[in-house]
Amino acid sequence: PGTLYVVATPIGNLGDLSPRAVQTLRGADVICAEDTRHSRPLLQQFGIDTPLLALHDHNEQAQAPALVERLRQGQALALISDAGTPLISDPGFRLVRAVREAGLKVSPVPGPSAVITALSAAGIASDRFLFEGFLPNKGAARRQRLSDLAALEASLVFYESSHRICESLADLESVFGDRRMALARELTKRFETILDGSIAEVRARVEADADQQRGEFVLIVEGVADRSAAQLAEGRRLMTLLSPHLP
Ligand code: SAM
Repeated sequence: PGTLYVVATPIGNLGDLSPRAVQTLRGADVICAEDTRHSRPLLQQFGIDTPLLALHDHNEQAQAPALVERLRQGQALALISDAGTPLISDPGFRLVRAVREAGLKVSPVPGPSAVITALSAAGIASDRFLFEGFLPNKGAARRQRLSDLAALEASLVFYESSHRICESLADLESVFGDRRMALARELTKRFETILDGSIAEVRARVEADADQQRGEFVLIVEGVADRSAAQLAEGRRLMTLLSPHLP
C-alpha cells in the first residue's frame, strides 16, 4: 500500500519549502490541497505538476474512504494546506485519522508552522506552552475562554486575523492584566514585526498604528507567574463575590 505524506508549506516565504517537500510533492500521485486555486501557483513555481484534489473541512469526511482506497491500491498521496503545517488550525485531521484507522502509513514532511516560528523568536518562555489556535469569534465566549486559561503556568499561544486583532488584545488585557506578551505579525514576510512588552504596551502600539493591524498574527501571553499567588487571588475574588451572601 501507499503512504499519505503530510507536507508543510511556507507561511510566507517561498524559500522555506524544503527540498524534501518538493521531492515528495513531485513524486505523489495526487496532492490533496485545502484550496487548489491557492496552491497551484505555489506548486507551479517549483515545477510540480502533480494533479490536485480539493480537500477541506466540508468534504474531508466524505472523501476519506476514496483516498484510503487509493492508498490501498499503492498510490502515494500528499496533503498540504494553504500555508504552514496541515492539521494545525487547518484541515486534515479526519483524513489522517481515517488512514491510520485503516492501518495504513502516514508520514510527516515537517516544515514551517506559525506557532513554532513565533515561539522561536518571541522571548516568552517556551519550555511549556498551550496552543489554543483561534479564539471564539464572539466577545463573551472569547473572554470566557481566556478566563478558563488564566490560572495556567504554561505560555498561551493564539492565532488571530486582522479582523479581530484589536478586540482580542483588549480582551487579553482585561483578563490577564499586566502580564508580558509578544505579538508576531507577518512572520517570514516583508513586513514581519515582533512586538513585546506588557499586554497594555503592545496593545497601545497596535492601536496607534493602522499598519500594525494588518496581516496575520500569533499572540503569545506568558503564563501565570506563581500558581499559589494565582490561587490566592482567585480565592480572594470568590470570597468577595460570596461574602454578601454568607451569614
Ligand atoms: N497551518 C498553519 C500553521 O501551521 O501555522 C496555520 C493556518 S491558520 C488557518 C492561519 C493563521 O495562522 C493566521 O490567521 C495566523 O494567526 C497564523 N499565521 C499563518 N501564517 C502566519 C505568518 N506568516 N505570520 C503570523 N501568523 C501567521
